Amino acid sequence: MKACVLKSPAPIDSRPLEFGEVKTPLPGEDELLVRVTACAICRTDLHVVEGDLPVRRSPVIPGHQIVGEVVALGAKVVSDDRAEGSFNIGQRVGVAWLHRTDGVCRFCVSGRENLCEGPDFTGWTRDGGFAEYVVAPAAFVYSLPQNFKDLQAAPLLCAGIIGYRCLRLTGIEQKEWPGARLGIYGFGAAGHVVIQLARARGADVYVCTRDRERHQSLASELGAKWVGNAMSPPPVKLDAAIIFAPAGELVPVALQALEKGGVLVLGGIHMSPIPSSSFLPRQRAFPFARMYSLFHLSKLTRR
Ligand SMILES: [Zn+2]
Ligand SMILES: [Zn+2]
Repeated sequence: MKACVLKSPAPIDSRPLEFGEVKTPLPGEDELLVRVTACAICRTDLHVVEGDLPVRRSPVIPGHQIVGEVVALGAKVVSDDRAEGSFNIGQRVGVAWLHRTDGVCRFCVSGRENLCEGPDFTGWTRDGGFAEYVVAPAAFVYSLPQNFKDLQAAPLLCAGIIGYRCLRLTGIEQKEWPGARLGIYGFGAAGHVVIQLARARGADVYVCTRDRERHQSLASELGAKWVGNAMSPPPVKLDAAIIFAPAGELVPVALQALEKGGVLVLGGIHMSPIPSSSFLPRQRAFPFARMYSLFHLSKLTRR
C-alpha cells in the first residue's frame, strides 16, 4: 500500500515524511483492517513528526483522525448486526488517537481509560492513517453515522473528542449554565468545535489566540463574546477556561483570568514548560481554582 512514513523526526520544513510503498498490515484477531478514505491532520501529528513527542515506533505512519471502511475482520471480531460491538465488511468507521488500552490498570477499571498506564496511540506507538490501510482493535473503532461526509467526520475523531472531553471537565455542559463564561486559549480545530457546543449551551465564550487573521476572525464569526491576544486578560473573570495551545506559559495567565472556584482544563497532548509563578497572592484571592489535565503529560512524554 502507499503511505507517508516517518523514519526519523525532523523540522517539518525539511519534509521528514516519505511517501512510498509499504506492506499492507494484516488485522490481529481482535482487530479490523480499514481502508482509509480520509485522515485529518492534527497538531499532535506535527509533534510526532518534529520529535516533540519521543520516538515510540520507528518507522511510523502518523495520522489519528481516520475515516474509512472495514475491509477485513480479525478472527475474533463478531460480525453480526444485532450484537453490540460487532462490525461488518463495508461498514463506515472511525479510528482515533487512543488506539488501545491495557484494560486492567486502575484508570481503565474506573472508567478513565484516557489516563491508562499502558496505552497505545494511533500514529505514534502504532501505525496511523496517512496510508491506504490501517489496522485497529475493534473495541476502539467507532461506527460512524451516515449523516456526516468523510471530510466532516475526520476532525471530530481528535479535535471533536478532545474538545468535548475538555468542555465536560469544565462543568459547563448543562442548560443550567446560561451566561457561564468560558475562556478558550488557542483556537485551532478543537477550539472551533468547542465554541459551537458552548454557545449552543448558552455560555459566553472568550477566545484568546495570537493568530489575528484567521483564528480571531473565525472566533468572532462563530459568536465569541470577546476575542483577544493570548496574553491580554479577558474583560471579565472566567468560570472556566480550556488551554488548547501547546504553550505552558499560558497556564499562569489563564489561572489569573479565572473567577473564584474556576476550572482550568489543559487539553493538549504536548505542552512547553509551565513557567514558575509567584502565584500566592492571587491564589489566596482565588483559592478554589481546580486544574485538570486531559492526559498525563509527564507520563506521556517520559514513555
Ligand atoms: Zn490529535
Ligand atoms: Zn489501563
